[in-house]
Amino acid sequence: MPAPRIHDSVWPQLDALALIEGRPLVITDADEVLFMFLQGFEAYLEDNGHYLDLSSFALVGNIKNAATEEMAPVEVAKDLLDGFFRERTETMTPVPGAAAALAALSARVQIVVLSNLPEASRPAREKALALAGMAYPVVANTGLKGPVVRHMADIVKAPVFFLDDIPHNHTSVAQVAPDVQRVHFIADPRLARLIGPAEHSNHRVDDWAEVRLLIERELEALGW
Ligand SMILES: [Mg+2]
Repeated sequence: MPAPRIHDSVWPQLDALALIEGRPLVITDADEVLFMFLQGFEAYLEDNGHYLDLSSFALVGNIKNAATEEMAPVEVAKDLLDGFFRERTETMTPVPGAAAALAALSARVQIVVLSNLPEASRPAREKALALAGMAYPVVANTGLKGPVVRHMADIVKAPVFFLDDIPHNHTSVAQVAPDVQRVHFIADPRLARLIGPAEHSNHRVDDWAEVRLLIERELEALGW
C-alpha cells in the first residue's frame, strides 16, 4: 500500500494558511468537536423520513427509514449525509464552551480547523464558525488526516495538538506525526458512551474547559 498523501485539493488551502513558525498549533476537527453534528443530523433525518439507530459508533450503517424500520441502503444514507451538509452546515449548533476555550488558548497558540467535508461546503462551514465566535481558518480535507497534520507540524516546529472524534483519524496522525498530542473528543454524550478512548490517542476529554486546561498544562510542561 502506498504511503498516504495529501489530496491535490488540499494543497492550495495549506499554502494559504500562513502558519507561524515557533508558535504552538491546535488542529481541531469540526463535526462532534466544534459543532453538535449528531444532534443536527438527527433533526435532518427526522425531517426527511429517517432516523438514526444509535446502537453503534457508525453513521451510514445505522440510518433507518422511519416508516418501514428498514435500514437505508448505502446510496440513500450517503445522499442524506450530503444533503445534511449542503443544507444545514451553516446552522449547526456549536459545542458548548468551544469558542471560549479557543479564544483563551489563542493567546498562546494558533488554531486551524481540519474537517473532512466537501470543499463546496467550506464557505458555509466558515460562516457557521464565524457566527459561533470561532473565525479560524478551515481546511476542507479529503482522506486521511495524518499527512496534513505532519505537514503543518513541520512548518510550526512547536508543540501541536490534534482533536478529533473518530478513532481512525488518531491512528492516521499517530502513524506519521507521533510527536503531535492527540486528544480524543466526542461532544455528544450518547456517542461518547458508545466508545472508549481511541487506541492511538494520548488523552480522552469530552469537555472544552478541560481541553483548555490540558493544553495549557502540556505547554507549560514542555517549556512553552
Ligand atoms: Mg468529526
